[in-house]
Amino acid sequence: MPEYDRLRAALATGEDDRLVLDLDGIEAQYDALLRELPDVAVRFAMKACPVDEVLAALAARGSGFDAAGPQEIAQALRTGVPVDRIHYGNTIKSDRQIAEAYGLGVRDFATDSLADVAAIAVHAPGARIFCRLATTGEGALWGLSRKFGCSPEDAVLVLEAARAAGLTPAGLSVHVGSQQLTSEAWQNALEALTAVVEEAGRRGILLDHVNLGGGLPALGVLDRKGRPLDPPVDKMFAVIREGIQRLRDASAAPLDFLIEPGRHLVADHGAIRAHVTRLTQRQQLDGERVHWLYLSCGKFNGLYEMDELRYRLEFPGRAGAETVPAVVAGPTCDSDDAYADEGPGMPVPRDAASGDPVWILSCGAYSTAYTTQGFNGIPPLPYSCVRTTAGGPEEV
Ligand SMILES: *Cc1c(COP(=O)(O)O)cnc(C)c1O
Repeated sequence: MPEYDRLRAALATGEDDRLVLDLDGIEAQYDALLRELPDVAVRFAMKACPVDEVLAALAARGSGFDAAGPQEIAQALRTGVPVDRIHYGNTIKSDRQIAEAYGLGVRDFATDSLADVAAIAVHAPGARIFCRLATTGEGALWGLSRKFGCSPEDAVLVLEAARAAGLTPAGLSVHVGSQQLTSEAWQNALEALTAVVEEAGRRGILLDHVNLGGGLPALGVLDRKGRPLDPPVDKMFAVIREGIQRLRDASAAPLDFLIEPGRHLVADHGAIRAHVTRLTQRQQLDGERVHWLYLSCGKFNGLYEMDELRYRLEFPGRAGAETVPAVVAGPTCDSDDAYADEGPGMPVPRDAASGDPVWILSCGAYSTAYTTQGFNGIPPLPYSCVRTTAGGPEEV
């Protein structure tokens, strides 16, 4: 369970609804990841938190970026990071997007199809490509399986096609699925990578890097029933370290390793200050009387993932208050704008009143990017970045 005290202190300094991101916490998380995986280079997956201050802090630490297209590449470049620390990690791209990325100086492109390889050869001549392997996504809250990646057989064909087209077949990537909760998924992914590295080597393709993708979990979120997820991160890191060693042993050429965490670096270091819109009790059509807590923030302004997981809620100043279990929902006229109605409700103060502050923890990932523009008239959620270590919270 993450340590939330410094974020709580920052949340307590204001009144308005906003996401507060703790740059010191994000930097500490980055450092901790490098201690677990010492010779792996980090390419932060920008879509998890495309906030300039966060990107600049990570770039200053030595991170590179996994960008999904020219706009993200341009945003990453504004941090001053050298362009060789940015790759085009999206397998889905138009001719124009490839040309723009190439024009911005990017030379490393993810791919998973012959059509994409042919387009890269025309619009990014001589580029280095890395081929994404498909995974089942099992064990993850978001599988990222069907839409992306090659079978092992196709991966070899894609690498050979790249070589034939004058590109450099440079590496492989995977994504085990976002908020992956099992170490077995990592085990399986690393075995698949090893088999393809070996097969490519037999065909004279010497890869120089393996990109382990995203999927490392947030630690402080709850499942759809409100229980801690407690992902076995120590086991995952041990499996990854062993898998890296086996890959190095299996490869005929030296291999560099990259990892593309998104959620893991930012989720637990962001929290939303929201307010109670209303606590109600309504008889459902099955006859049961159920409490509903409607918040000022929901799926469309900060809590996009609320239908697949639950966030911890805190009611500042109400620590000992009598509680009732309630379904938690956002403020809009959309029935998906709610925690999944599985398991018991979340404990909320029985006398929670409209306007009371609510703190929503571990929602630093996939919150700013997934906010809508005026849905039901609600503007995008504002955010602040704070420094929390040197003498109390300070906005930057
Ligand atoms: C979204 C994404 C990531 C980050 O995933 P997390 O589960 O947030 O770590 C990494 N790589 C690629 C290619 C992605 O699309």
